[in-house]
Amino acid sequence: MAGAELIGREELAEIQELFSREKVNLYRYGGGNYKAREFEEKFAAWMGVKYAHAVSSGTAAIHCALAGAGIGPGDEVITTAWTFIAPIEAISALGAIPVPVELDETYHLDPLEVEKAITPATKAVVVIPMWAPPKMAELAAICKKHGLILIEDAAQALGATYKGQKLGTFGSVASFSFDAGKTLHTGEGGIIITNDKDIYDRAAEFSDHGHRHIPGLPRGKDPRRAKGLNMRLSEVTAAIGLAQLAKIEIILSKSRENKKRIKDAIRHLDNIILRPFSDEAGAQGDTLIFRVRDRDAALQFEAHLTEHGFGTKILPEALDWHFAGVWGHLLGEYERYRDADLEALWPKTGIMLRSSICLNIPVLMDDATIEKLVNTIITGSEKIG
Ligand SMILES: *Cc1c(COP(=O)(O)O)cnc(C)c1O
Repeated sequence: MAGAELIGREELAEIQELFSREKVNLYRYGGGNYKAREFEEKFAAWMGVKYAHAVSSGTAAIHCALAGAGIGPGDEVITTAWTFIAPIEAISALGAIPVPVELDETYHLDPLEVEKAITPATKAVVVIPMWAPPKMAELAAICKKHGLILIEDAAQALGATYKGQKLGTFGSVASFSFDAGKTLHTGEGGIIITNDKDIYDRAAEFSDHGHRHIPGLPRGKDPRRAKGLNMRLSEVTAAIGLAQLAKIEIILSKSRENKKRIKDAIRHLDNIILRPFSDEAGAQGDTLIFRVRDRDAALQFEAHLTEHGFGTKILPEALDWHFAGVWGHLLGEYERYRDADLEALWPKTGIMLRSSICLNIPVLMDDATIEKLVNTIITGSEKIG
C-alpha cells in the first residue's frame, strides 16, 4: 500500500506548520498559506512538466483532465476493459461514450484493438497504465496519425516509466490519485499534469465551478466560460501531500527491491506465468501479477494465499470493480451496450483477468515476510498442479 504505510510524523509536521501561521486558512483560494500551490509546483517539478493542478480525488482528476481536454457529449473515448471504474464514470459524466477494448499480453491497451475501434466520432484515447508501461510508442503514434487526444490516467503508475520517460508525460494531460491504494496517500486527493496551458486552465476552472481565477479580481467577480463542479483540494490535504512527495524515491526503490527479490525466487515455477512487459525496467514495484491455468486454478490459488495470511489485490477478489464486462449498471445507459452480453464483448480480457493473480508488494517487508510469501507462492503453484 506504498505511501499509506509511511504516514507519520512528517505528515503531522506539515499540518502543524500550516497551523503555526499567524492566520490559518484551510481554503486553497483564501490567501495566506498556499500548501496546495507548493504541492503542485513540487509535483510538476518531480514529473518534469510545466503545470500541475491538485484536486479532491483521482476520480476528480481524470474528470478534470477529460473536461480540460475538451471531451464532451457524443465523443467516443477509447480506453481499456481492465481499469478501476473511475475513468469510465468520468467519461460517462461528461456525456461522452466509453469504448473499452481488449488487453494485450502486458495487460494494457492493445494498439491493434485501438486502431480497430476508431470511428469518425473518436476524440481521445485514455491509456491506463497498471503499475507498468503500456506500449506507449505505438499508442502515441496511433493518436498522432488519427488526430486523437492522448490522455493518461496514471493513477496506478506514479513513478513508472517507458524507455526512461515518466508515464504521465506522453499525452496531452495525465491524472494521478492519492487514495489509500496508490503510490502516495493523502486521505483523498488527486492531481493532473500537463504542458499545455490551455488544458491546465480549463481543467482548473472545471474543478472550481468554472472560476477563471483572474489575478487581482475578487472571487465573487471572477468570470467563467464553461460549467464546472467543486473538486477543490483542501490545504490540509496538500500539506500531507508535501510530506508524502518527499518520500517518493524511497517508496519506489523499496517496493521495486522487494518485488525483484520475490520475482527472482518464483521465476522458475512451471505453473505460473509472470506478466510480460513492454519495458520491464520501467515497471513499478507496487504490484506483482502472474497468470495460472484457468479461473478455477486462480480461485484455488487465492484461497491458498488467504490461508497463509496473504490477500490478493484486485485480481481476483475485486474484479467486479475493474472489468468492463460486468458494468451493466453504467454501460447500460448507452444504446450500443444496452442489450449486449458485456462479458462476450471482451472475451480475451475476461479470460485473462479471471485466470490472474495480482499481489500487493508493500514498501515495508522484512526478510521473514518476503520468504513466507515466496514459499506460499511456491506451495500454491504445486497445489494447482
Ligand atoms: C484509483 C483510481 C482512480 C480513482 O482515484 P480515487 O482517488 O480513488 O478517486 C482513477 N483511475 C484509476 C486507474 C485508478 O486506479
